[in-house]
Amino acid sequence: MDASAHQFKRNVHAQLGNEALQANLRRFGGGFADRRRDAVGRVNDFEVLRDRAAEIRAEVLQNLDHWLLAFEAEAQRRGTHVHWAETGAEANQILLDIARAAGVQRVIKSKSMVSEESGLNVVLGAAGIEVTETDLGEYILQLADEPPSHIIAPAIHKSRDEVSALFAQHHGTPRTRDIPALCEEARQHLRPRFLQADMGVSGGNFLIAQTGSVAIVTNEGNGRMVTTLPRVHVAITGVEKVLPTLDDLAAILRVLPRSATGQDITNYVSLLTGVRDSDASDGPQENHVILVDNGRARLLGGPLHDALRCIRCGACMNHCPVYQNIGGHAYGWVYPGPIGAILTPAFLGLDKALDLPQASTLCAACEVVCPVRIPLPELMRTLREQEMEQGLRPWHERLSIRLWRWLALHPRLYGFASRWGVRALRALAGRDGLLHRLPGLDGWTEGRDMPAPQGQTFRDQWAARQAQQAQTNALLVARRQAAQAGHRHD
Ligand code: SF4
Repeated sequence: MDASAHQFKRNVHAQLGNEALQANLRRFGGGFADRRRDAVGRVNDFEVLRDRAAEIRAEVLQNLDHWLLAFEAEAQRRGTHVHWAETGAEANQILLDIARAAGVQRVIKSKSMVSEESGLNVVLGAAGIEVTETDLGEYILQLADEPPSHIIAPAIHKSRDEVSALFAQHHGTPRTRDIPALCEEARQHLRPRFLQADMGVSGGNFLIAQTGSVAIVTNEGNGRMVTTLPRVHVAITGVEKVLPTLDDLAAILRVLPRSATGQDITNYVSLLTGVRDSDASDGPQENHVILVDNGRARLLGGPLHDALRCIRCGACMNHCPVYQNIGGHAYGWVYPGPIGAILTPAFLGLDKALDLPQASTLCAACEVVCPVRIPLPELMRTLREQEMEQGLRPWHERLSIRLWRWLALHPRLYGFASRWGVRALRALAGRDGLLHRLPGLDGWTEGRDMPAPQGQTFRDQWAARQAQQAQTNALLVARRQAAQAGHRHD
């Protein structure tokens, strides 16, 4: 997938000015967040489940090589071919070789974020192989020629009218606003593709080392048809997705759907193991798993290590006030929201996604809901520090941080400067007490007003409070002493 993360600010301006998108985002609003809250409320102690999920993911990452090799051995024993790809391009080439060797003409796909990373559809298309996305959201986006904007609801940025117009254009059908009718229309168009395809390509939510299985967690039946109808199946997934046992999968499944869509369990949880038995009526005759690194291994043991715990539930973006206002496309690559603000610079390079770690108020809503307790704000702060250390931020930003640091090391001067700063801000405010424009900080005030600070600075308030406390303490001591003196006199 082409990345535009380097022009994040330009993307944001475009998305904020896109009225249709803004209306769709408002409609989406807190839907997933509300459902998550209700789902979490239905279990006894969700925090214990989160602890267990985080622990499982952390332990796997400590011994990732061991568990990957265990998965490979078990998958091979059951007839699955396991391939290793260092980059997205390598993964595409492996898949293309498999397709050519098997004489594949038509591919059907279910949702795979790793194949978005590698730009697989473009490569297959260029090789003359027809690719059809079969997840409803992905199918809509394939018709619209757009990338996903959310990791679990890829077409969340589209309204029913937009989908209806798209279907009318591509299917030659009358427009309808009836969502079940739109789903049925997509089903009618997809069904023959399922039956004609020679190869199914899926992602993999998890890899189970104990059984050599690929686990797929989904709400649409397309995942099962993609993985069982065509004679060849290829799962393409990141190397960090391995889990030791089925019990671990069960523990993770207690937090994943609740965090993602607010469901106790998704409609389908599929475990794909090996190839079709000789007497079975479905299942692939040839089964492959491509394990893709694409930048993951270099995060292991480093400051961004914890980001690899991610189980792609989407809760962080569903609760992020920044994502809720700009949508997923502004982030400029496969992964949007808080986790995207970490993974995109980590995978593509910090200089290619310079503004993403800044795209957060550090309110920590993402950390509060992350089912595997990834310290997302801390990781964003780490990336910000790296940007400073590597001199990647603009000169004026570096200069102001240096100035601030110098002032912070000189408390008297800091107090003096902040007192004058507060006065200046108050003088610049309008009659409504709001700052509509800040000289030199137009980017801040362009889309929002800021309340001018009222009263004293924090330091002055703190000092006054301390003085008052000291006075109260002195009074109490004096009263106690007076009382004791009275007793002695009696
Ligand atoms: S970072 Fe956490 S909340 Fe965000 S997608 Fe990953 S697991 Fe879910």
